[in-house]
Amino acid sequence: MEESISSILEGHHHDPTRLMDILIDVQDETGFIGDQAVAQIADGVGLSVADVEQTRSFYHFFSKKPTGKYAIYLNTSVNACMMGHDAVARTFEVEAGIPCNSVTRDGLIGLFDTSCIGMSDQEPAAIINGKIFPNLTPFRVKELIRDIREGKSVDELVVEGYGDGQNSNSDIRAVVNNNIRKIGPVLNPNYKPGEVIRKKLPEMTPQQVIDEMKRSNIRGRGGAGFPTGMKWEICRQAESDEKYIICNADEGEPGTFKDRVILTERPKLLLEGMVVAAYATGAQKGILYIRHEYKYLKTYLEKLIEGAHKRNLMGRDIAGIKGFDFDVRIQFGAGSYVCGEESALIESAEGKRGEPRDKPPFPVEKGYLDKPTVVNNVETFCSAVKVLLYGAEWYRSFGTTDSTGTKVLSISGDCRYPGIYEVEWGFSVNDICGMAGAEDVMAVQVGGPSGSLVSPSDFDRVLCYADLSTGGSLIIFNHSRDLLQDVVLNFTSFFIEESCGSCSTCRIMPVILRDKLIKILNARGVKQDITDMLSWAEVLKASRCGLGQTAANPIITSIHNFRHLYDQKTRGEARYDTGFDLNKATQEAMMATGKFVMSE
Ligand code: SF4
Repeated sequence: MEESISSILEGHHHDPTRLMDILIDVQDETGFIGDQAVAQIADGVGLSVADVEQTRSFYHFFSKKPTGKYAIYLNTSVNACMMGHDAVARTFEVEAGIPCNSVTRDGLIGLFDTSCIGMSDQEPAAIINGKIFPNLTPFRVKELIRDIREGKSVDELVVEGYGDGQNSNSDIRAVVNNNIRKIGPVLNPNYKPGEVIRKKLPEMTPQQVIDEMKRSNIRGRGGAGFPTGMKWEICRQAESDEKYIICNADEGEPGTFKDRVILTERPKLLLEGMVVAAYATGAQKGILYIRHEYKYLKTYLEKLIEGAHKRNLMGRDIAGIKGFDFDVRIQFGAGSYVCGEESALIESAEGKRGEPRDKPPFPVEKGYLDKPTVVNNVETFCSAVKVLLYGAEWYRSFGTTDSTGTKVLSISGDCRYPGIYEVEWGFSVNDICGMAGAEDVMAVQVGGPSGSLVSPSDFDRVLCYADLSTGGSLIIFNHSRDLLQDVVLNFTSFFIEESCGSCSTCRIMPVILRDKLIKILNARGVKQDITDMLSWAEVLKASRCGLGQTAANPIITSIHNFRHLYDQKTRGEARYDTGFDLNKATQEAMMATGKFVMSE
């Protein structure tokens, strides 16, 4: 093992900023990252053991103990649970003979829970040694465990055949389907890679590129909606010898999977968008940060980057433009939802724990390695290419005045046609339900757990930055679902699991809210509990990043839009004495022990 780690360190030039890559390789190669490995890595990159341990312990897919020859990670997201997770999980446990989150005594099989893996349109799904196995059934699980015990390789476990489009490419070979249901400017297959780099950039100054972005009114597609042209301009104006372009492909919001499809089917468009941003801002280096769950795309994407170099679409003097040098490297995450937050993503790309930074300064002033950095979403880069290709006027002809262009949606849940839809901004929730073949709809979760649980009375509301803003995840629930038990509890538990733990509000309050919700679900709640939850949720808004600030949204929006569900499960009066004064009751004891005196 020592030798393997040495060669991994060598392969990454003993660079401490590449700690994530080093840990990923050690985990892949040896199945775990034990204390001895941490010490060797720390020595090899010149960091303290504590520094390496901090990063190792932060990410879900790094393990201190062996994870088994076959490490099975079974998704526990809302969609997985709706589509039969429990029966699949039970079968895994029975067939493997172990409870979840443990390893068989012979070290053959490890079985673990994991949050959304980006397969919401084909759940229940699991990752086995990096390979995706979607649409699982108890029958299929029995086959998998039987084949594992017979010693088949992970590739040999595949009996379904590979998925549609590039999923069957020899560099991917994934049992995953794209499910592209509706195409628009971003997903349109009639695209000539490199056309904008070769034909448009040589004719335009960087400022003209930025001006075109500003005229198009394109805004970031990650959910926050910051104007792209303005972001690029601030970065361009920042004085620095080095600048970076980062693509955030760390979609971890339960219910979202559109980046997976774009990375599979339109990766050249995405890479071209990063090159355009580099030209506009003066950046020399780019990082494509991809969530760990999509690691099966690694070879495919690396070859495309290599191909772009060969065609002079990356590298030096790109498209013959003297001095325009730009290169992209891929950085994989290791299982952490909060790394979707741009400053946490930067920390992670630097090899650290993915903890969000205090802002300001913003990444555009002080980002990766403290250099000015543009972080944009996959879809934003793709759209930017089309803005330059067809012009700002053309782009503004899609969508609404405030929200121009299109939005790629990941639609899942109770509908006949789950998948990817590219629609113009301004589509209503009703339009979406109709388009996806959803019937008897009770609620739609717009924007993932951090968004809103919308009731039928609001189905005429539209997707746009001014109304229902969304990063693209929409989950449909019909009347067979128990919204509080199946949805709100699952989402709240998700936030508890994914909090980085830095802020006391985000570390503690979602746990208290979840316990209160469980009390209500167990029919022990009173009306005061609902009032308490709403007022306690306010405390969470003081958290440092969006995760904590929105962690109470499943509870808040469900109370606002589905109050009757809470009322049905709660009694009017508390059975305990709500007038109890804790301060008064303990004051005498506090004074007697001399610890402290409670103030009035
Ligand atoms: Fe971490 Fe939560 Fe604070 Fe964000 S809000 S920094 S996730 S503890």
